[in-house]
Formats: sequence, C-alpha cells, structure tokens
Amino acid sequence: MTRARCLIVLLDGLGDRPSVELKKRTPLMYARKPFIDRLSREGVNGLMDPVGPGIPVGSDTGHLAILGYDPYKYYTGRGPFEALGAGIRLEPGDVAFRYNLATVDENWRLIDRRAGRISTEEAEVLADSLRDLAADLSKGGVEVIIRSTVEHRGVLVLRGPSLSHKVTDVDPHKENVTVEMPRPTEASEGARRTAQILAELIKGSHALLTVHELNRDRVRRGMMAANALLTRGGGVMPNLYSLNERFKIRSSVIAGGALYKGVCGAAGMEVVNVEGATGTLKTNLAGKFRAARDRLRVDDLVFLHIKGTDSASHDRSPASKAQFIERVDEEFSRAFGDTPSGLVICVTGDHTTSSITGEHRGDPVPLLIWGDEVRRDGVESFDEVNCSKGGLNRLRGLDLMNVLLDVANVTEMFGE
Ligand code: ZN
Ligand code: ZN
Repeated sequence: MTRARCLIVLLDGLGDRPSVELKKRTPLMYARKPFIDRLSREGVNGLMDPVGPGIPVGSDTGHLAILGYDPYKYYTGRGPFEALGAGIRLEPGDVAFRYNLATVDENWRLIDRRAGRISTEEAEVLADSLRDLAADLSKGGVEVIIRSTVEHRGVLVLRGPSLSHKVTDVDPHKENVTVEMPRPTEASEGARRTAQILAELIKGSHALLTVHELNRDRVRRGMMAANALLTRGGGVMPNLYSLNERFKIRSSVIAGGALYKGVCGAAGMEVVNVEGATGTLKTNLAGKFRAARDRLRVDDLVFLHIKGTDSASHDRSPASKAQFIERVDEEFSRAFGDTPSGLVICVTGDHTTSSITGEHRGDPVPLLIWGDEVRRDGVESFDEVNCSKGGLNRLRGLDLMNVLLDVANVTEMFGE
C-alpha cells in the first residue's frame, strides 16, 4: 500500500452566501477558477461543518477542529496561539492576549477597530515605543511582552505567578461604542490582578500613543491615529498531543498570519516561513505554493493557509473575494498544474464568512479531496451549492484528518 503525501489548501472564511452584487451567486460560484474546478471534477466533494451545524466559529476554534482537536476541550482563547505564532515561547502559567491597534476618541469611544488598517511597519514602530512602559509594569513582578504581528494585529503576554485569563475582552468587537477597561470574570485574586495590570497597560499606552510623533503625522495626513491597544481572547496554551505522534507523520504549515502558525505549531507542525507571506490580500501566493511543493518532498502533510478570502469578506467585498480566489487558482495551477501522482490535495475553508454582513456565519464550507485513489463523484465545479451533491456528503471538522489521511493510506486500522 503506497502512502500518498497530503496538501491542504485552506482558504480562510471561504464559504459565503449569494449576494445581489454577484447576481445571486457566492464569490466561489462567481470566480473563474479552472484548476480548482478540475480538482473538484476529478475528486470527491462535500460540505463540512467546522465545529457543528449552524455554529459560527472563529479561525482559532475552526482550525483546532479541522486538525482534529475538539475546541470545546482544548480552547481557552486565541491569545496563546497568536503568541506562539509570533514566535513567543510560552511558559506554563503565561496568559496571552491578541490585541488590535485601534483608534479611539478622547472619551474612549471606538472609532476604528483596525486604526484604518495601519501598515505592519507603522504598527511595529508604535508597539516598540511601549517598551519602557512594559518594563516599568514588569517591576511589579509580572513580565509584560508586547509584539506587533501583521498590520493592526499584535500579541500581549503576561508572565508571572498567579495570573488568570478570566478577564473581559477590551475590544468590544464593534465600533461607535465606549471601550470598557478589563474586568475579572471570576472571583479570584489572579483574575483581579490580571485585569488591573491590563488596565494600567492600556491606559498607559493610550497616553503614550496619543502624543507619538508617528500618530501626529498620521493625523496631519488625514489618517487615523492608532492610539489604543484593545485586548481580547485571553487564554493559556493547551497541551496538544501532536499530529505527528498521533498519525506518525511529518507535517508543516505555511501561513502568513500568526494565529495559523500558532495553532498548527501547537499541533506539532513545523512552521515554514515564506518571504512576502503577509496574510493579506497582497500576499506572496506564488511563493507560498512553491514552498508547499518543495516541502511535499519531505513532509507527509503540508498545510497551506491563505487569509485573503476572509479579509475580503470582512471588508464586505464579494467582488474582491472572487478576484482573490481567481488569483489563488492561477498560482495554485502554476505550482501544481502537473498534478503529480502520489499526492492527495484537499481544498476547503475553516468557516463561512459572509461578505454581505462581514461576519463569520455557521453555514458549512465546501470541501474537495483529490488524489489517485479517491472515488470520484458527479460534482463539476467547486462551490457551496455543487459540493452539497458530492460523495463526501457532510463532514464535521473533527473528522477531516481521519478522512484525508485514510485516502492517503496513512491511517492505521482500528481493530484487527
Ligand atoms: Zn478563519
Ligand atoms: Zn475572519
């Protein structure tokens, strides 16, 4: 029995709903994507509920489930995965948060959750300017680590004795509301102390960022000042039994965003860094697909994550989501158009993101598996509607690894 190698191409927030803008079609139905459609025609298709039917999930819980880890068991918050993905080695007891560099007015009313999608370079300069504040706060016995990642995104880690992730999100997740300082969500000394340190950091950084020369310059240029650090997703790192041990495979991840490197890294996958892989719409798709092709010479499983589809949905732009899918198809075809034998390819998403509302929804996501030995079905093109007629029917995210690695002849028999 020959084992095949597996490539998962995960298009973030791939699933969508039909929009008037695209003449009642979803971006995937609308996009011209001859290569992915060919894989669909030659492969087996279906729909997947990342966590469960009708449950809208985040990228963190969606990815955990797709990699075979029940998020209800292992998930406390996205912070620790973001931190790991940003290259911070977490220690037991560390509490990690995701943060957004945002724009608030003088009364802490939230104007823009992403500070006008500030550039990665500018966000880094601003995060660096908080180093002295972090050092001052660290004198109280809790080390504060702040690291900027992609655009407005960053990671905050608190390290010290008796901390807790049981504090409220500071990011209200919507604009035009007043930002509230963190509060403990349980009656423990750790939660109280964590909320207090966070509040000091958030207020202190606001004071520093407001007068920062870069922000003054942004305002002069008619842009928004990135003057607030909004934390969310506090959590501690779960102890995951690695994919490599579980399936006796060697695996790697190619991604731009810190979260994806973090979740896959926590599952024991090797993180491959590709120049220009930014996790944005302008990411180096060609480089990522080339790197995947290279890694498949040594790895049994390569997980290639592409974020642009989700970003376009959050920006409520079905047309640019469709355009981005077309670009993905071109680069995918350039790297894998010869469809080498001994390879199993899976294309799917981690959740549906509606490009009408800009929010994650609970509709299932399309899924295809292509390979030498798959049973073909009658599906002719890859989208939300056609996949519902496919041979994989409807899967749960938790089953994907088993199904995929079984098609590749990797999974071992249960019983004898
Ligand atoms: Zn996602
Ligand atoms: Zn999203």
